[in-house]
Amino acid sequence: MPSILGHTLAGLSISAACTQGRPPRRIWVLAVACAVAPDLDWFTGLFGIQDGHSLSHRGMSHSLLAALLIAALAMLIGFRSQLRSPRHWACMLSAAFSHGLLDACTFGGTGVAFLEPFSKARFVCLWQPIFVSPIPMSGRLLDWLLFSLGTEILWIGLPACLVFIAPRAIEWFRLRGKRSEETP
Ligand SMILES: [Zn+2]
Repeated sequence: MPSILGHTLAGLSISAACTQGRPPRRIWVLAVACAVAPDLDWFTGLFGIQDGHSLSHRGMSHSLLAALLIAALAMLIGFRSQLRSPRHWACMLSAAFSHGLLDACTFGGTGVAFLEPFSKARFVCLWQPIFVSPIPMSGRLLDWLLFSLGTEILWIGLPACLVFIAPRAIEWFRLRGKRSEETP
């Protein structure tokens, strides 16, 4: 998996893309929670659940169905019924789905069971530019962690910055142009 940093960046950039101006705290907190939540399945390994099992890492919790359920839970917890807009739904669904997509783009981990519980097939992207985050972090694994973080900064951090900065920069230039037109 990308580290929690990578998934958090994805959640933040999606919340920024779904809102105008600064994303309200509730939106970005929920979007980050949706983007990170599927990795709670990592703890199933502590109970002896083997790789390839539906409940193992990157199994059921990383599926499209789970993304839908996670988004629905975030909407239920985070918004009163009258405040639940399609934009909020799109934000939470995108954040939850981004997790599996990023995992599928990591090199070194198992595939993602997007179609659970209907199929146990595990999927990976043909292009896997992000290196899987090592656990635990010690010795040479620490070097691997740093390398993996570097790939996350390049392939998740930079696009996230662009998503966050670009619309705000365009708005800033638009307002600046408007002001200069109004100034005699
Ligand atoms: Zn994951």
